[in-house]
Amino acid sequence: METILGIDLGTTNSEVSVIRDNDVVVIEKEGLRLLPSVVGIDLAGNLLVGHPAKNQAVLYPERTVKSIKRKMGEDIRIQLGDREYSPPEISAMILRTLRSYAEESLGQKISKAVITVPAFFNDTQREATRLAGELAGLDVVRIINEPTAASLVYNADSSSRETLLVYDLGGGTFDVSIVRVEEGVLEVLASHGDTHLGGDDFDQLLFDYVCDTFKKQHKVDLRETPVAVSRVLQAVEEAKKRLSTEPFTQVKEEFIAEKDGVSLHLDMELNRNQYEEQILPLLEKTLTCLNDALNDAQLHPDDIDKVIMVGGASRTPIVHQLLESRLGNKLHGEIDPDLCVTMGAAVQGGLISGAKVGRVLIDITSHTLGTSVFDERYNSPFIFSPIIKRNTPIPCSRSNVYGTVFDNQDAVEVSVYQGEADDVRQNVLIGDFYLKGLAKVPRGNQIVCRFDLDINGILHVTAIEKSTGLADNIIVENALTEHKPEDSLSFREHLKDFFEEEETVPVELEADSETTTDKDFADRLGLAEGWEERYDKAAALIQRATAFISKVTGDDKHEIETRIKELVDAINRNDSDQVNSITSPLEDLLYYLEDSV
Ligand code: AMP
Repeated sequence: METILGIDLGTTNSEVSVIRDNDVVVIEKEGLRLLPSVVGIDLAGNLLVGHPAKNQAVLYPERTVKSIKRKMGEDIRIQLGDREYSPPEISAMILRTLRSYAEESLGQKISKAVITVPAFFNDTQREATRLAGELAGLDVVRIINEPTAASLVYNADSSSRETLLVYDLGGGTFDVSIVRVEEGVLEVLASHGDTHLGGDDFDQLLFDYVCDTFKKQHKVDLRETPVAVSRVLQAVEEAKKRLSTEPFTQVKEEFIAEKDGVSLHLDMELNRNQYEEQILPLLEKTLTCLNDALNDAQLHPDDIDKVIMVGGASRTPIVHQLLESRLGNKLHGEIDPDLCVTMGAAVQGGLISGAKVGRVLIDITSHTLGTSVFDERYNSPFIFSPIIKRNTPIPCSRSNVYGTVFDNQDAVEVSVYQGEADDVRQNVLIGDFYLKGLAKVPRGNQIVCRFDLDINGILHVTAIEKSTGLADNIIVENALTEHKPEDSLSFREHLKDFFEEEETVPVELEADSETTTDKDFADRLGLAEGWEERYDKAAALIQRATAFISKVTGDDKHEIETRIKELVDAINRNDSDQVNSITSPLEDLLYYLEDSV
């Protein structure tokens, strides 16, 4: 059977894959699967593509071209070294490199490819992409939309009708598309995006924060030295990625600058909460695009069956939280978001060449794993705090930070649960231990809780007191097996035999203060105690509405305020019919206003 390459020709990175024995195989070169979409000419006149070109970009910008995808279809020439090139010629250098990686890896000549483009690309941009393929010696058998490719890889063997929302947040661009799949036919119903929004902007915010802080500390501006700029940019990008799985991280670069003959070192802590606050305004823009796409497709969030996460920056945890609160719990990021599009292009290539393509199989967690926390808002110690979410590819490591509840609290209990419910009493307890001997400090002592899950389902849970490094851990042998509630009960009984004396120790953790939302909220609105438990949907809606009020004026503002007041009255009267009948118009009102602001 003929081999057809599936190529994701991306703005930041490009990838290539093929179908082998009914499976999608992403081509690797020296262990790397992402080829930076950067082209350069070195001082000796040699062509550089990928990492070497990316590395020289800051020192020799005039010899390096990045993000050529943005220029596809434009009638321009780009200076590179001592020659000028058209955008398809530069793209052809990337495609030729990918083709040679595939040929080396498979040991055969390859002349055909499916290449993906953004759904918003016009005919000229598509033609330019086809031309780039031809210049790279490839017969481009099909140009397909990126969201279509991503949908194909999640639906390779499905014949059912589904509506998918593809949220693609890459390095330099953002797209959201709604794709209808019916009897194997895929159609993009709507697509919106921002061609200048992505992970690079997040890097820039961190970069500015690090440079400003360093300047305050040392009166030296790192932005003035190109090598320092390059090093800090790379360091913050790596730190940003670590913040997707860890609550804190260090940015360390030795000998980054010099002042009065003395070497200066960069050593700074970044934390996830602060970083998420910095990028929130940018993420809100993506939600506006999402609303526009839903409106264009004339669909409601409930009409979406699956949300597919694509693009490296879609791994950012707050992105998942925002999408879950807007669209519900149907996110899928189990297929590597960086590789999803190239894999879909390979599936399309396989379909054209007549290969039988099976479902893409990956090892994932089928249940959420987390711990219990005390949450002041609900005055409850039974709140489930997920750490490794369902559908996360394994092996994986994730950590969160929590705070102690009492002053001088000298121990915390770390209970490990499996399940999806917000109340841990409905989940299954699969492990439990104490971290004892904590420092005598006021409440809020930060405890990092780390879960490392390996491919065999062995879960290492570690609790670390951040300020001292004091740590303890347990191993749960079979964290992937579905546990039954009765297992939880018998485990508790079993545990009691060992820990009789622990019952009196104050042992709670609470969500880290920086992560909890407005605690005075219920007080300000005059809501009765325990209301959120009874009316969780209304609670979320009131939060959303009150957060939104500052963005509107006049009649709109008055109407929202009136609705909130009616809802609060109904909740305080415990009149559930009335709560339900007010919830829906308030939801609609917000839905339309959020779109128009
Ligand atoms: P793409 O254009 O899809 O290749 O995405 C590249 C962007 O994703 C870059 O800005 C990366 O820094 C970012 N990225 C990659 N991995 C992660 C991660 N684990 N967490 C957050 N951002 C990431």
